[in-house]
Amino acid sequence: ISPSPFFHPGKVASQDSLAVLHLKRDLLLPITLRTSSEATDGYAEGAVTNTRFGSFPHSTLLGLPWGTQVLASKVDTGSRGRPGKKRKLEDRSPQEEQLGTKQSGEERVAVKAAVAAGSGFAHLLPPTPESWTISLPHRTQVVYTPDYSYILQRLRVRPGDTIIEAGAGSGSFTHAAARAVYNGLGTAGRKRKRQGRVFSFEYHEPRVVELKREIKEHGLDPIVTVTHRDVYQDGFNIATSPDDQRERPLPYADAIFLDLPAPWQALPHLTRALKPVPSPTPAMAAPTSDSPNDITMTSDPIDPREENATSYNATQSPLNPQATIRVCTFSPCIEQVQQTVTALRRLGWVDVEMVEVMHKRIDVRRERIGLHEEGLRGVNASASNVEEATDRLREIENRFKDFHSSNRDPDGRKGGNKGVGDKEDKSKKARLDRIKADLKHRKIYKEGRLVHRTEPELKTHTSYLVFAILPMEWTQAEEDACEARWPVAN
Ligand code: SAM
Repeated sequence: ISPSPFFHPGKVASQDSLAVLHLKRDLLLPITLRTSSEATDGYAEGAVTNTRFGSFPHSTLLGLPWGTQVLASKVDTGSRGRPGKKRKLEDRSPQEEQLGTKQSGEERVAVKAAVAAGSGFAHLLPPTPESWTISLPHRTQVVYTPDYSYILQRLRVRPGDTIIEAGAGSGSFTHAAARAVYNGLGTAGRKRKRQGRVFSFEYHEPRVVELKREIKEHGLDPIVTVTHRDVYQDGFNIATSPDDQRERPLPYADAIFLDLPAPWQALPHLTRALKPVPSPTPAMAAPTSDSPNDITMTSDPIDPREENATSYNATQSPLNPQATIRVCTFSPCIEQVQQTVTALRRLGWVDVEMVEVMHKRIDVRRERIGLHEEGLRGVNASASNVEEATDRLREIENRFKDFHSSNRDPDGRKGGNKGVGDKEDKSKKARLDRIKADLKHRKIYKEGRLVHRTEPELKTHTSYLVFAILPMEWTQAEEDACEARWPVAN
């Protein structure tokens, strides 16, 4: 299994690796690092990535440790990275090279100065499912990080597990699922580790083509299998070669995630024995006022689809017979939830539960306070503008120095009204020294009232999550063995 940059990005950005340019919060750009100027992918323009914060020639990014803050190039890239304009790694300016190392206070000042002079910067990050979710090319609504992290832990997905996912859409959940099941490279001791798998199904062909390309480019193809299929119609079994006796029936899933408009139409394909499902009767469908908790059966009846024989073994269960299976469905409206819950109940799923993730991002910061000191009046100090206050202090110091130099006569001796001036100078200097010492020792980031605000805009579209469990089925032999060991008292 080849290492994916999502799991093993290495220490530095290298040729052909997928990287993420973090331009500002929630603005991330995936790029594939190339030295050639040919346009090689859909996100970056050849060997230069142009953003509204400036241009980033890839040659200035290659070899930098992940996490480096990089200044936009001052070199004229011809704005579109024409051949002949590219620079080699050795041609990087000292400042650019300096940025490759951990930044000292002075380096930070350099970045600030560059930004003030009009050039932007970005942080160079390795890809993760989280950054991919924010930056991926959207082909559909996607599942965002707050939802998929909750879903994957509720499904108890662990390294080595197999998960079924439908529909795959833009592949946001796919990447998170791949990381959750990934079981490392190689073997554990003498025993071969079971590698995790994700079986993704999608019926929209262009989306399948795109997702397959991305999965391959991201080195996830040994883990993720994307199948073009209508799962309502044809279920989840994967054809394996009839000659291959060693291959267990696939997918052999431990967990299922359904992000489909009608999950209840896919559920009959996710039972242990794929038995026909009884059609709903009017009595089952109609809620009564005596039983307010009954689930309403709306328009679409459950279709057992028993007649849909396919090229795969339609009677074979796609589930791991030796595991308790967990399912999650993701639906934006309550009517879909009602139909899903009804189907789950009829198909033998237990512990059916609905959850709505009400994720809110809370911005915590200190309210600005005034520094009522001489020379700093009007300058606010807070965690974010300590540097502003220090800059202002430096400016005042410089003015103070200028005042001194202008007060010297041509021979370098102090001139004029020496006595008065000296006294004023001394007291001014003493005051400035006090301020300086104060700024040095005061924990300005601890000052001010701590406030928090909820951010209204959040990238997650509200949906209802339905969770359920399908218990493991026991064979008669297992029942007998259990009875022999722990006899049930009559
Ligand atoms: N979970 C995905 C993500 O995080 O990027 C987004 C899924 S998107 C909301 C729903 C997808 O289900 C669509 O791409 C749609 O084409 C697919 N779909 C709908 N009905 C389907 C079916 N019967 N079989 C397979 N895929 C289906």
